[in-house]
Parts: sequence; C-alpha cells; structure tokens
Amino acid sequence: MKITIIGTGYVGLVSGACFADVGNTVLCLDVHAGKIEMLNKGIIPIHEPGLDGLVTSNAAAGRLLFSTSYDDAVEHAEVIFLAVGTPPDEDGSADLTHILSAARSIGQRIARPVVVVDKSTVPVGTADKVRAAIAGELAKRGADIEFAVVSNPEFLKEGAAIGDFMRPDRIVVGSDDPAATKLMRQLYAPFSRNHEKLVEMDVRSAELTKYAANSMLATRISFMNELANLAELLGADIESVRLGMGLDPRIGSQFLYAGMGYGGSCFPKDVKALIKTASGLDQQLHILTATEAVNEAQKNVLFNKLVRYFGGAGQLAGKTIALWGLSFKPNTDDMRESPSLVLIRSLFEAGAKVRAYDPVASKEALRILEAEHGAERCAQSLTMVGQGMDAVADADVLVLVTEWKEFRAPDFAALAGILRHKAIFDGRNIYDPEAVTEAGLRYEGIGRTSKD
Ligand code: NAD
Repeated sequence: MKITIIGTGYVGLVSGACFADVGNTVLCLDVHAGKIEMLNKGIIPIHEPGLDGLVTSNAAAGRLLFSTSYDDAVEHAEVIFLAVGTPPDEDGSADLTHILSAARSIGQRIARPVVVVDKSTVPVGTADKVRAAIAGELAKRGADIEFAVVSNPEFLKEGAAIGDFMRPDRIVVGSDDPAATKLMRQLYAPFSRNHEKLVEMDVRSAELTKYAANSMLATRISFMNELANLAELLGADIESVRLGMGLDPRIGSQFLYAGMGYGGSCFPKDVKALIKTASGLDQQLHILTATEAVNEAQKNVLFNKLVRYFGGAGQLAGKTIALWGLSFKPNTDDMRESPSLVLIRSLFEAGAKVRAYDPVASKEALRILEAEHGAERCAQSLTMVGQGMDAVADADVLVLVTEWKEFRAPDFAALAGILRHKAIFDGRNIYDPEAVTEAGLRYEGIGRTSKD
C-alpha cells in the first residue's frame, strides 16, 4: 500500500518505518525541514532503540521516503496518517493547530478518494473537525472527492516503540465507514495476522480509549506514589507492598512503581486534556484531578528529602548534587515534562550546583534549561558530564533520577569513597538499601525507611 505519514516525530517515524518494513511504500512528511534533511542523510533525529537500522534499511530499499512537500505527500498515498504533535494549550486542552493545519493541507490537494487516519492523541470530536477542515477546503475549490476520517490512536511506548508497533497488544480502529475499516484491517494484518488484536469501534469511542488508557496508567502511578509517602510515615516499605499487591492477577504487577512522578510527552498532557474535556461538559473528573495534584507534589519529593538531609533549604547553597539520568524514563532522549527538570530548577533556586549524566538526553536537557535560565546561569550551576562516575566526582550526594540499565549495579564502595556526604537518593527504588548501607552510604528511597 502507499502510505503517507504527516509528522515525523516519535510516533510518525516509528509508524512509517514499521509500515515500510512489512512492504508498504511510505512517505514521511514533516514541516521541520531540518528533520527531513537529517533523515535524507540517514541521520535519525531521535533516540529510539532499533529505529536507526529499520529506517536505514527501508530507505535503502526505496520503501521509506522523506519530504517536506505536501504536494508530493498527498499525491503519494491512498491512506494518510496524521501523527503531528498535540501539545497542551495554556488552559490544558489539547492544541489542535497542527492537526487542523495538516487536515487543511490535505483538503487543498487531494485529487482522488483517500482515507485520513488520526494517529495523534486528540480529544473526542476531533475527527469531526478534521472532516470539516478537509471538506471546507474541497468546497473552496469546488471539488467533490470522497474521503473518510478514521481514528487509530497509537499506544507505543518510547524506548520500546518498535516492538510495541510490530507486536501490539491491541490496534484500536474507530470508523463509521466500512470501506475504510476494511483498508485498516488490511494495513494492520501483518501486525496481527488473524485480526485478533484489532478492536473496531465508533470514532468517538476510539478517541476516548486513548485518553482512558493513559489516564488509568497515570492514576496507578499517582496511587502508588501517594501510598509510598504513607508507607514512609508508617515505617513500611512500598517495595514489599508493591510485590504483595502485584501478584494478585486482578491488580497485576506492571505500572505499580513509586518514584518521582510521571512525566513525558503523553501522561501529563493527556490527563490535563481529559480533565478539560470533562469540565467543558460540566463534569469534574475527581480521580484524575487528584492524580494530577499528587503527581505535581511528587515531583518535589526528592528535593524535599535533600532539604531535610542537609538541614534546611539554605544549607543546599554551594552543595554539589550529582544526578544520574535526566530523561523522563530510560531508553529515550525525550525530556518533555521530565521530573528531573523540576528537581534541577529547585536546586538552582537553592543555590546548589548540579553535575549530571544521562546516556542520551543531556543535550536536550541543556537546551531546555538554557532556554529557561540563560546559557551563563547554566554554565555557573550545571555541568553535563560524559560518564556516571564523572558526575559523582566532586559531588556531595548522588541522586538516581532515571533507571537506565547502566546505573543498576554501581560499585557502592567506590561511590562511598568519592561522595563528600556519603548518601544516595534513589528516586526509582532500584537499589537494595542494605547493599548501599553496607558500603557506608546512607540510603534514601521513595516510600522506604531511610537507612544509615
Ligand atoms: P513529536 O513532537 O515527536 O512529533 C510531531 C512532529 O509533527 C514534529 O516533527 C513536527 O515538526 C511535526 N509537525 C507539526 N505540525 C505539522 C504539520 N502541520 N505538518 C507536518 N508535520 C507537522 O510528537 P510525537 O511524540 O510523535 O507525538 C505525536 C502524537 O502522537 C501526539 O498526539 C502524541 O500525544 C501521540 N502519541 C505519542 C506517543 C509517544 O510516546 N511519543 C505515544 C502515543 C501517542
């Protein structure tokens, strides 16, 4: 099949490469000329395990093309995916500027029947808006061309995106057009041979399914974080509680981890957008409102622990804090809404210095922080280093922010020999408190009793 993907970010590029890999000819379009230039040179603009090889091999086979030309992109395909960003607007609702601009660009150009597929996460009712935008452009040029708009939200996880796309748990297709549904079934057959993973529904339900799924996951995280804070007060260990809970198949063991709060490009914005959708209909989503409030507070948990450890915020001035990890989760360079940014901002404000190491996200983190605080301020307070042990050199304490594999089994004795204040703050509960304390370090986790 000939497919166009509009928006060549984490979702668009992964989807494009995977569709090409099963034999389709895919054209990926982006308005960001620099991105397309890089891709045409074989450089992948994002960090996603396995994506490099997949893009290179399919581009070499002529099945994966990159362009900035809407003329070429619309002419190319019988099915056009929208995978542009839907960032939060100032009021928390999803900003549909990019989606509707792409829809208008399609409407201005289509010359034959086409299926337009919404893969971006968009509020319920957006497919109607996309349909109206395309129809409006067709009417302007007096054209009468059939088209369908389908909702096909994406559930891939950054860091494991290729596997998720190639072997999906489910494929949600919202459509009220039987021919478009049939085409979607054909398109996804290589990823679910007996169509057992494909769930067909109406468009609005499909749009809501994506928000429901992300909201449930965010709620599990906030639930565990709130419980972790209680466990700490009660002298219990949230890690034991997690294990005891998760073995119940009705609960399940995934997404039960206490930590520094959720971040990333999806959960924060999708939770906000669903709350906003409901409030527009005079319904308050009490549980999700609490999920968000708990998360906001949780992002400060490690900073508050540092303040307590040093005996007051004033005592942090001049201290050097080593950070391991900056991205919102491992295996990605995505820094959007990363809890590490909240911690760094608070440390800056307290007059502390930060030495940080992340395997792939340092550059993006520095870009964001320099835009906020200026290059000079960042140069004074923040040093990005190329190795975990370089971050620890000359530091007072170590904070584990992102649970990258390379941080999982450090030499605690070596850390104890280097850190001035012999303490580790484990923001992801990945270390065994006993192993840490045996090496002569204080251990501070989330929802666990501190140990000397
Ligand atoms: P992204 O920011 O990485 O990429 C979006 C791309 O769209 C950018 O490259 C941008 O230049 C391009 N773009 C913007 N306007 C355009 C236009 N008019 N025409 C062509 N290109 C345009 O975003 P992403 O993380 O890939 O997310 C895309 C959508 O998928 C969002 O709605 C997001 O919520 C959803 N989603 C994301 C993930 C994820 O893990 N990142 C997972 C599932 C769903």
